[in-house]
Amino acid sequence: MVSDRDDQAYGKNKGGKLVMRDLNREDRVSEFHKAMGMDRNTVLNLELIDLRMKLIQEEVLELKEAADRIGGLLWYHKAVTPEHKAHLLKELADVQYVISGFADAFGLPLQVAFNRVHESNMSKLEDGKPVKRDDGKVLKGKNYKPPILLDLVQ
Ligand SMILES: [Mg+2]
Repeated sequence: MVSDRDDQAYGKNKGGKLVMRDLNREDRVSEFHKAMGMDRNTVLNLELIDLRMKLIQEEVLELKEAADRIGGLLWYHKAVTPEHKAHLLKELADVQYVISGFADAFGLPLQVAFNRVHESNMSKLEDGKPVKRDDGKVLKGKNYKPPILLDLVQ
C-alpha cells in the first residue's frame, strides 16, 4: 500500500508497475523533511540555523573520519576494501543530504543556485583551458562571470 506521501515519490511505469519517480536531490530531501515533520520553508532564524549547521558539522566530521580511515588503509596496505569505499560514499551522501536539508529548511532554491554556480565555474576557462594553482585548484580566468543569485532570495 502506498501512502499519500509515497505518491510523491512513486509513479507507475508504462506497464503499470509502481516505480520510484525520478525526483531530484532537493525534492527527495524535501520529501524526507515533510515525512519527518521537520521545519521547511521557514524564515531565517538563529535556532534553526544552529541546528542545521550542527547537522552539517556532524556529517562533515563523519566524512573526515571515513576519509582518514581510507587514508590509513592506503598508507599501510596500498589498497581499500569495497566496504570502506561504500562507507566513504555513504558519508559523502550524508553531507550532501544535510546541505540540501539546510536549503529546504529555509526554502532556498539550491538546485537552481547550484546550476548557476556551475555555469559560473565553467566560465573560469581561459581560451578553453583551465588556469590552475600549483596545488591543482582552478583559478578564475579573464572570462570569469560570478553567479547572480540575488533574484532567488527576493
Ligand atoms: Mg553520516
